[in-house]
Amino acid sequence: MKLKPKIGLEIHLQLKTAHKMFCRCPLPSKDAAPNSVICPICLGYPGILPQLNREAIEKGIRLAQALGAKIASRIRFDRKNYFYPDLPKNYQISQKGAPLAEGGEVLVDYLSFDKKRSESFKVTLNHLHLEEDTGKMIHEGGPSAGSPQLGSGQAGRPATLIDFNRAGVPLLEIVTEPIIASAQEARLFVKELQRVARALRVSEASMEEGGLRVDANVSISRGQEAGSTKLGAKVEIKNLNSLVALKKALEYEIKRQTGLIKKGEKIIQETRGWDQKESKTYGQRTKEYSADYRYFPEPDLPEIVLSPLPSALHPLPVLPGTLRRKALKKGLRAAKVYMLEDLGRLEKFLQKTRRKGIDIDQVASSLLSPRPGKTYFKTLPSDIGEIIQQVLAENPQQVYNFKQGEKGKLNFLVAQVLKKIPSADPREIRKKIEEAID
Ligand SMILES: [Zn+2]
Repeated sequence: MKLKPKIGLEIHLQLKTAHKMFCRCPLPSKDAAPNSVICPICLGYPGILPQLNREAIEKGIRLAQALGAKIASRIRFDRKNYFYPDLPKNYQISQKGAPLAEGGEVLVDYLSFDKKRSESFKVTLNHLHLEEDTGKMIHEGGPSAGSPQLGSGQAGRPATLIDFNRAGVPLLEIVTEPIIASAQEARLFVKELQRVARALRVSEASMEEGGLRVDANVSISRGQEAGSTKLGAKVEIKNLNSLVALKKALEYEIKRQTGLIKKGEKIIQETRGWDQKESKTYGQRTKEYSADYRYFPEPDLPEIVLSPLPSALHPLPVLPGTLRRKALKKGLRAAKVYMLEDLGRLEKFLQKTRRKGIDIDQVASSLLSPRPGKTYFKTLPSDIGEIIQQVLAENPQQVYNFKQGEKGKLNFLVAQVLKKIPSADPREIRKKIEEAID
């Protein structure tokens, strides 16, 4: 019996707008004091009226367009009712019946295992909808995020603090069809989505700062192409907040469910969390169904009619996939295409090689390698945090030894990062690794 995982993702992307989704509070900066960027609206006081943020709708449309989704002509907001300490209104304004856009398709390119070719796969989208973010709970002195137990606060008592700065930040939720075939594909898809969102300047899409969070659902089916039979119930893993966590949690969950099926045991439809420290998923609650949320149209916001804009008014920038394919077509080796992309220099490469008769390899090398006596690239790639997290996850022993006082291990870790981004400034990387381990 060949068993195949089917993965669907829900990506919550914070949109970069001047104000929150339904009030005039600015978006909180990283270092804003807790509960300092709030007002009666985002705190959900009784009697408040939401004021719709036009910019969030426009940015959502832009991303939906770039992902090939069909923008709705009329959209509506709905109340999703549930109780949670970080949701003071007891409902979240979201979209259920008439979302922003439906369908869409993302072509994800990646460097083949032998690093010789560029390969790709497609992910189809179900829909995209807008909603507001919730507040953030901080388990004080606690173990790793996502761990089921609480930590100890003052006087040794377990304590959970709530910061409402994030409440009301605009979110675009991107929901894929359950067709992703592996943990690695899921990771590559999210990475591509990050690149597209950044190219469009609609979001920082930083997983480190919580600007992009992923829920993943996994089910296992028998691997016949036509009419594959579903064997297991759908299990959802909530709040995966790094690419490493996403990949590891999915790998663990696929193994767990496959093992249960092989033993003839039943898989329960439930929501699970990811325990980073223990590297495993754990049961949180049996899954809610849509009816449990008693969705109904938000009475304080009218239905919105979106008139189609002439595309000339909002030309999309050249998307990352187009840049890659252009560079490949010029004959640049696939490995170099991806290296240049990671450094954010692919567009520069294409500009410099526009004229005929230019030695493309020379241009690529000059963009990739630091010249003697010259400075290194000062700007690290935007996903440097994730690259470092990946290196740390791949080298737990060295990290442990470093923490135990073997300061020399830091050089080893810097070297591992430099392998992935050859011409970055080692001093900058050193600083970033020290911050990450702290
Ligand atoms: Zn507010």
